[in-house]
Amino acid sequence: MTARIIDGKATAASLREDVAAAVARLKSEHGITPGLAVVLVGEDPASAVYVRNKGRQTVEAGMNSYEHKLDAGTSQDELLDLVAKLNADPAVNGILVQLPLPGHIDTSAVIATIDPAKDVDGFHVVNAGRLATGLPALVPCTPVGCVILARQVHSDLSGMEAVVVGRSNIVGKPVAQLLLNENCTVTIAHSRTRDLPEVCRRADLLIAAVGRPEMIRGDWIRPGATVIDVGINRIPTDEGKTRLVGDVAFDEAVEVAGAITPVPGGVGPMTIACLLRSTVEATRRQNGLEPV
Ligand code: NDP
Repeated sequence: MTARIIDGKATAASLREDVAAAVARLKSEHGITPGLAVVLVGEDPASAVYVRNKGRQTVEAGMNSYEHKLDAGTSQDELLDLVAKLNADPAVNGILVQLPLPGHIDTSAVIATIDPAKDVDGFHVVNAGRLATGLPALVPCTPVGCVILARQVHSDLSGMEAVVVGRSNIVGKPVAQLLLNENCTVTIAHSRTRDLPEVCRRADLLIAAVGRPEMIRGDWIRPGATVIDVGINRIPTDEGKTRLVGDVAFDEAVEVAGAITPVPGGVGPMTIACLLRSTVEATRRQNGLEPV
């Protein structure tokens, strides 16, 4: 039996429809149009594509999109000044600074400058701390997308053995925190984990956020497990082109898992949809409205 393929593209499309409906209500009932500012520093091609897609989908959801493209030589002070201006701008409800930033800029200083109420990426320590202590928070978008996809398969994640491979601040740690909030028993694995295949085999729910193409093999997966593959890795093909693969060896895993996300078309499309949802949440909170 091959695994059920979890359709992130369709789930993201339906989430974007919900967001568009929530935006329409904000406009008609309160006269508010949410605004999302995205800041891109430099010419990184992958980042430029993300920023373009974010802008397009923001507008499609009925919100205002403000794109700030700065050249690679922009100084840290110039970037911090722009963030401060966006913090003070009432038309801007969400601020996202596209990572990675050029090497001469201290990423944590930039994130620390974003108003936590507008931090729709959820990277500010205030939001990380609020998530960790169970307070309402703006939560990183990719981890939220992972949990939504897992819940397509299991309406209740309570009691499941979840293994998260990767402990970054933007994916691994927040996804582990969200799964803990869902009452999973959570193991966080990383590059120093002993016998990673054996740890992965414990998982009813396996989240791969490593950044190593097809590292997780079919025989690392417990039969019937749900696998969420966050990895986006570009590898060369025999024809001299490139293609995207995840952190999981999909062709092997699909024979063992109960359900699995593909790459592309799994977690990837969820990230922007969750970003749009966060922008609506942030706008509602800034205006003293209940969350939707
Ligand atoms: P990071 O490089 O920040 O973190 C990778 C994590 O994987 C680290 O915790 C590292 O461990 C761990 N790791 C690395 N090698 C191994 C190994 N051999 N065995 C076990 N663990 C290992 O990556 P990100 O969290 O930012 O991203 C992870 C992946 O997700 C990437 O492919 C990225 O492209 C993708 N991504 C996808 C998004 C989407 O929208 N779908 C959004 C964000 C990321 P240690 O801490 O010990 O070094």
